[in-house]
Amino acid sequence: MSLQIILGDITEQEADAIVNAANTTLLGGGGVDGAIHRAAGPALLAECRSLGGCETGQAKITKGYRLPAAYVIHTPGPVWRGGGQREGELLASCYKSCLDLAAAHQCKTVAFPSISTGVYRFPLEQGAAIAVDTILAWLAPQDDVHQVTMVCFDEKTKKAYDEALANSFAANKSKPESSAC
Ligand code: ADP
Repeated sequence: MSLQIILGDITEQEADAIVNAANTTLLGGGGVDGAIHRAAGPALLAECRSLGGCETGQAKITKGYRLPAAYVIHTPGPVWRGGGQREGELLASCYKSCLDLAAAHQCKTVAFPSISTGVYRFPLEQGAAIAVDTILAWLAPQDDVHQVTMVCFDEKTKKAYDEALANSFAANKSKPESSAC
């Protein structure tokens, strides 16, 4: 079991499942959502149309079509509205729901983008801390998913996740041997 943080493009990841920071319609959008739909091809949108949307903080799974990943797990993150609208709780729920769904589909490798910290404006440092803590807490007691990768699209995002992982270890929230970076 491990969490690694890399700089890269999630559409190129050869994971069992990649996560899409979607919107509640699941009908595509900009940012990482647009990139995933472009790379997967039109069959992905056709399957998404059959799903009836998804609530913020929940997750739904489709096939990966032309992507190297077998599955795409779609999760609408919270839009940042100042922090008083359960945004942190909902963001943690996104990561947990995706990992639960991945495990239910026997996915051993899962790649995440930085959910909500783009167009949805969730503060990067806070979002990274929630992501890292939620993933490490999920990984700790079980062995269903062996490898979780945070795929950061730019240096600033990678730095925030590297720091969140270091802070998590420093706070002794997680065993160091359960992670690699
Ligand atoms: P949200 O609406 O949830 O904020 P965005 O797509 O706007 O989602 O941004 C989420 C994160 O995904 C941002 O850090 C953005 O830079 C990043 N991102 C955009 N394209 C890609 C990609 N191809 N691979 C990985 N991350 C990406």
